[in-house]
Amino acid sequence: MKKIKKLIFILSISILVATLILPKAIANFNQNNKNSYTVDAATHIDKEEKVCKVGLDNKEEELKYKEEQNNILKQDKQTTHVNKDIHAILIEEYKYTKESLNLRTGPGIHNELIITIPMGEKVRVIDQIDGWDKVVYMGNEGYCSSNYLTNKKVNKDIIKSNTLAKKEKNKYVSNTINQSKKELIKNQNQNQVQDKAKDKTQDPKFINGILLVNKEYGLPRNYAKGVDTKANNQLKKMVKACKDEIGKELMVHSGFRSYDFQKILFDNYVNRHGYERATKFSAKPGYSEHESGLAFDICDKDQKHRLKESFKDTSEGIWLKENAHRFGFILRYPKDKTHITKYIYEPWHFRYVGIDHANNIYIRDITLEEYLMPERY
Ligand SMILES: [Zn+2]
Repeated sequence: MKKIKKLIFILSISILVATLILPKAIANFNQNNKNSYTVDAATHIDKEEKVCKVGLDNKEEELKYKEEQNNILKQDKQTTHVNKDIHAILIEEYKYTKESLNLRTGPGIHNELIITIPMGEKVRVIDQIDGWDKVVYMGNEGYCSSNYLTNKKVNKDIIKSNTLAKKEKNKYVSNTINQSKKELIKNQNQNQVQDKAKDKTQDPKFINGILLVNKEYGLPRNYAKGVDTKANNQLKKMVKACKDEIGKELMVHSGFRSYDFQKILFDNYVNRHGYERATKFSAKPGYSEHESGLAFDICDKDQKHRLKESFKDTSEGIWLKENAHRFGFILRYPKDKTHITKYIYEPWHFRYVGIDHANNIYIRDITLEEYLMPERY
């Protein structure tokens, strides 16, 4: 008898604790009590709505609903299995790259390349369209051909090299590269030796209190931990102002990038195109302004013009060019200034320098290099 009482007591305590921990409301996910989601009280998910898993801990899974960051829901892990059967659109969360594979801005090889993902890497799948998986890899969202992704962890030693990437055209590269693999490896090794040597000596270059990062002046390996707080606050104000003034929502495609991530990007390009060519369109690790936490690549909400020169003609692109300085940002790589910046025209890349300097640079219509080193130009 005592034992039963004790059991009941423990049971009631467990129920009480569970009630307190779990989200309060229960929405009928499938109009059926057997398959219910425990969701935030404010959200109701209808049958057949698209839901993606974005992460999980021991007890609960996080679900992304309607692609909005703030619509992250928690689901009791035990109910997942049931829901998955009924709800066909619930996507498998992780896959592995069978080969080195291109991440693109859209589903199809005509879409622009974002980065090449090495073989055997884990990617998070958030959607599927016509033989393409929409995935997230190291903060980059894009599309990969489903043929080159697998649910099983890939043994990197067994599968040798990438064939897909070789087949596909890249906007930066002509078809006539015939550099031998030996040369590529040699270049890569040299590049790595150079990078290691530079790691030791690279101090951040400040002129009049402004950080200068370009092909000449790099940053130490762990210069910034993430996006600069001030820059980020000003960015938020700018995004809001754009919405208020022209009714357009800006998207921030990439902000802070670590040295290590820049290295993955750059090494990929070197592997594919050789060192010389890679330096023309990508920053070497330690030399990307994104590593400072002060630079942002901004695009239109639909991302149709993401990292494309055509962004300059969108109302978002035009607004940014004419208004970014009000918030302390400059268009870092303007048109016809490649001989100075050493970068192609990037109507999407904005750098925070503070309002006063930004105003000055905007009014004088010059680059950061000309502003900080007038004696050179
Ligand atoms: Zn950029």
